Amino acid sequence: MKLSRRSEQLAESATLAVAAKAAEMKKQGIDVVGFGAGEPDFPTPEYIRNACKSALDAGHTGYAKPASGILPAKEAACSKLKRENGLEYKPSQVLITVGGKEALFLACMALLDPGDEVILPAPYWVSYPEQIKLCDAKCVILNGKESNNFKLTADEIANAITPKTKVLIFNSPSNPGGFTYTPDEVRAIAKVVEGKPIVVFSDEMYDRLIYGNQRFLSFAACSPQAYAQTLTFNAGSKTYSMTGWRVGYVAGPEPIIKAMAKIQSQTTSGTATFNQHALAAALNGPQDAVESMRKEFERRAEYMWQRLNAIKGITCVQPTGAFYAFPNIVEAAKILGVKGSLAFSAALLEKAHVAVVPGEAFGCDDNVRLSFATSMEQIQKGMDRLEKLLGSK
Ligand code: PLP
Repeated sequence: MKLSRRSEQLAESATLAVAAKAAEMKKQGIDVVGFGAGEPDFPTPEYIRNACKSALDAGHTGYAKPASGILPAKEAACSKLKRENGLEYKPSQVLITVGGKEALFLACMALLDPGDEVILPAPYWVSYPEQIKLCDAKCVILNGKESNNFKLTADEIANAITPKTKVLIFNSPSNPGGFTYTPDEVRAIAKVVEGKPIVVFSDEMYDRLIYGNQRFLSFAACSPQAYAQTLTFNAGSKTYSMTGWRVGYVAGPEPIIKAMAKIQSQTTSGTATFNQHALAAALNGPQDAVESMRKEFERRAEYMWQRLNAIKGITCVQPTGAFYAFPNIVEAAKILGVKGSLAFSAALLEKAHVAVVPGEAFGCDDNVRLSFATSMEQIQKGMDRLEKLLGSK
């Protein structure tokens, strides 16, 4: 049977492939330290689980009505965006989705035609290029310099804009880079796109997970013009440790949201109704569980960063957000006699039983991604193993 060109051109998720190999080794009884996870290692807070149970008991088990999301979830998203991001949205400007991933895909489907250009800063989250490809649009990949913490400057983005540019992807805090744009940097980039026929996808999945004395600024909050050109994406996944619940939301200009809702109504019909009640509870409820998770991630970020920088052949920019370190491994790979992030990751798994994700999957072959969404004990053990294998500085 001949598969579609569309499916054949799609890459498998490299992050999942490493996790699968590590899982296979674990099954064989090998003690693998896994740094591949893209999800918090905490249980979903109890008040959220209880809200889901209550919704089930109350009979909220039918189709979500409307498919674009139940009103309480949309209202909760509006309250969150106003309270934490200073953004005013009406429920009609919000779509509740099957995780952040569906929201981003629907946005691609609603906006991109063949030949349209999407500016995609690298390192990038793995699904972006694939979702763009599924729409037959063109990725214009811009590599952020490691000396600037992988961040792009406003000038670099300005130079990449052409008459075909339709979308700019903006993800801060970044998966996989662990970096965060400062409010001034966000404003400078917003100035570049303001007034141009470009829609910004502001992926704010990790907006609550920032470290040190930083302030988070939503792209849409930069100016009224930026607001009119931006889709703001978020989800329960990373903030409330709800990755498996598949609840996300996106807010933006009503015509785009409506187009996305139309596609959603003909594809998934949205996410489970009882999970939407849980999302509403998560966003409206007490936020101290989020703060305690954030603090723990902050502690691990600092520890992992210090340890990585003490290992021979490795340099790492300081993670300031999300739960990822993204060290440069060019010299470390030479020590192991291999080249490239894929061979390096395979060597680490084989020789040290440590699973990391090759940076190639994120558009940066000089780096690998280590998630610190795992216990401090595991992080210590993994760092000890890397140090033993590569030596200390
Ligand atoms: N965007 C980024 C940057 C992510 O890291 C992820 C998840 O890994 C997503 C979007 C998708 O999130 P969800 O699990 O809610 O679909």
